[in-house]
Amino acid sequence: MVADRAPTLQLGQLTGTWAAVYRRRDRLEQRAVGQVLALWRELAAALDLTAVMTALRQQIAPAESTPAADRRRHVQQVTTAAVLAQLARLTSRPEWPQLIAALTAAMHRGRAAGTRAGHAVATDDGGELSGGEDDQGDDAGDADAELAAAYTVTAAALRGTAQNIARALLTAAEQGADERAMLDQVAAVIRDGAAWSTSTITAVGAAWTDGMADAYQQRGVQELSVVTVGDGHVCPTCVNAEDASPYPAATAPRPPLHPLCRCTLQSA
Ligand SMILES: [Zn+2]
Repeated sequence: MVADRAPTLQLGQLTGTWAAVYRRRDRLEQRAVGQVLALWRELAAALDLTAVMTALRQQIAPAESTPAADRRRHVQQVTTAAVLAQLARLTSRPEWPQLIAALTAAMHRGRAAGTRAGHAVATDDGGELSGGEDDQGDDAGDADAELAAAYTVTAAALRGTAQNIARALLTAAEQGADERAMLDQVAAVIRDGAAWSTSTITAVGAAWTDGMADAYQQRGVQELSVVTVGDGHVCPTCVNAEDASPYPAATAPRPPLHPLCRCTLQSA
């Protein structure tokens, strides 16, 4: 966090075209998150962590409520790996291809909408961004690349979910929770779906920026700048990317530069 640095665009106080651009992006992201979370919760109903919980409770007896830090870290890592192995089994469920398809479609819509946003920013006309909620766009974007990106998203989400579940289970085991209480903890992590939201928003944001870059390229823009956006804070990575702007269009960094990065590109 860089305290003395104001973001270039202030989210929440945007007006005109940029306000329309971020409204559109938010709607796209929220729609994608809603679809992905619904499918994820359906899929996760088949998750069985009985063996993982039994093993954990054997390793962490309630009497030993404050194990040494090294041992705790080890147990957490082993539990994360065991949970991840169970989560990986979900990928052979019939619902899994639907989740991949929802992500791929969300990225495709993101790229198409990002392209429209790029043209809107270039002409300072946000009017055409208000409609077209369900447009699938043109054929921009590479289906193979979108599929590969969807698998990257799901790998990150499964890993993050495994970490969140393992953390919750370890804490519960240390507090002497019974299996019922541990299952409640797992259910809460699954319902929350934080790792899925983060991964989905970040992936749609990446597709969106690719779409904006497409639009700038179509307009013959030679140089692009990274622009930071207020979202409670501006991180050093993004400030540095903005300070090093402008870049040749072909080699400009493409936000998101980190999970949930809200930065964008504009012509220099
Ligand atoms: Zn950023």
